[in-house]
Amino acid sequence: MFTFTEEQEMLRKVIREFVEAEVAPKAQEWDEANHCPVELFPMLGEMGIVGTFVPEEYGGAGLGFVERSICLEELARHSAGLAITVMAHQLCMGGILNFGSEEQKKKYLPDLATGKKIGSLSLTEATGGSNFMGQKSTGEYKDWQWVINGRKCFITNSHLADVDLWTVITGQNEKGKPIMTAFIIDKDTPGHTAGRTEHKLGLCSSNTGDVSCVNVKLSPQQMLSQEGDGPKIALSTIQEVGRAGMSAICLGILRGCLEESVKFSNERIIYGKPLNKLMNIQFTIAENKLDYESAKLLTYRAASMKDKGLLCACEFALAKYAGNEGAIRAAKRTIDMMGGYGVINEYPIGRFLRDTLAGSTAGGTSDILKVVIAAETLKR
Ligand SMILES: Cc1cc2nc3c(=O)[nH]c(=O)nc-3n(C[C@H](O)[C@H](O)[C@H](O)COP(=O)(O)OP(=O)(O)OC[C@H]3O[C@@H](n4cnc5c(N)ncnc54)[C@H](O)[C@@H]3O)c2cc1C
Repeated sequence: MFTFTEEQEMLRKVIREFVEAEVAPKAQEWDEANHCPVELFPMLGEMGIVGTFVPEEYGGAGLGFVERSICLEELARHSAGLAITVMAHQLCMGGILNFGSEEQKKKYLPDLATGKKIGSLSLTEATGGSNFMGQKSTGEYKDWQWVINGRKCFITNSHLADVDLWTVITGQNEKGKPIMTAFIIDKDTPGHTAGRTEHKLGLCSSNTGDVSCVNVKLSPQQMLSQEGDGPKIALSTIQEVGRAGMSAICLGILRGCLEESVKFSNERIIYGKPLNKLMNIQFTIAENKLDYESAKLLTYRAASMKDKGLLCACEFALAKYAGNEGAIRAAKRTIDMMGGYGVINEYPIGRFLRDTLAGSTAGGTSDILKVVIAAETLKR
């Protein structure tokens, strides 16, 4: 049975107060203006929200994945766009922390963990999303340097990141299979540029777009881990940092749906009584509560397993699947419950539905998550 410690409850309280004061009042405005509020990053850094799981020796808060999930849930309760910005930044830090050399950790983590710099993880390409070994970007070793070419798409923080992790194909093994290798690329490296910005259905206060490398020259010191370690780095970062983060973000949206449904049904008077006197409206509240509580258990159980060093690929897949599908159901149910008001943008519920749908593929589509869950279950 999972329970929060007193320190974790205290952390939640502090983050909630911050989010209610600094994020909630502006979240709708950021969404409408497609504005990613990176101006908050130094403050989020100071509070330990961006560097939650990074050890103190590298400038982080030295906490665990349960604490990280608390922070992301609280951010996403009011702005899933800001939450995914932080989450994607943490993908970059997670990759460097888990696979970087001591020199790379010392060079990059302190500025990232304190929010002075922004990170991104560039894996997806037009030919390689779920099928990430289908990537075509290349790295060629010439004249003592790696020369990187290719284009990534759907990258969160594409236009904001100072530090960008890339995976590229650096050759073929004896069986003719691609060898994938990861590199750390600094924003101002010549040839590394952000391309088109995507205009999305939701998560509009996050930045998503293309990033290209044209003859980007990197010293061998920019390689992350060894040649050929790209799949290991990408899979572990997506499964344990990305999926974990997305499950907490879905949970925040779910709590938003639950709280908005309670608030609206208390305040709306129909037939001279609050809306929640109708039994079908009570069913909506009960179903929203069930979706939230079950996703919460799965999310924090997976995070606490990760903190204990246990295998948790299946648990994170379950948590993200339950959270994402639950948030879609809860948002739709709440919109229905609200009648005409449900589609009025003055209420955040429409944004919650758009944000959930927009975040569905990040960290793995629901079908990919089911493939992971089934494979792990059959294996056990
Ligand atoms: C808002 C947002 C932010 C993102 N941020 C990042 C980021 O920061 N970095 C990054 O690298 N990427 C990012 N992505 C990309 C994301 O990881 C991909 O969208 C995701 O991996 C799916 O790939 P795809 O879009 O190419 O879809 P596809 O892989 O083409 O999937 C199409 C359909 O095929 C199904 N499918 C695919 N393979 C299988 C299979 N084996 N079995 C069953 N069904 C299958 C899928 O479920 C889906 O329904 C982001 C995407 C979005 C929308």
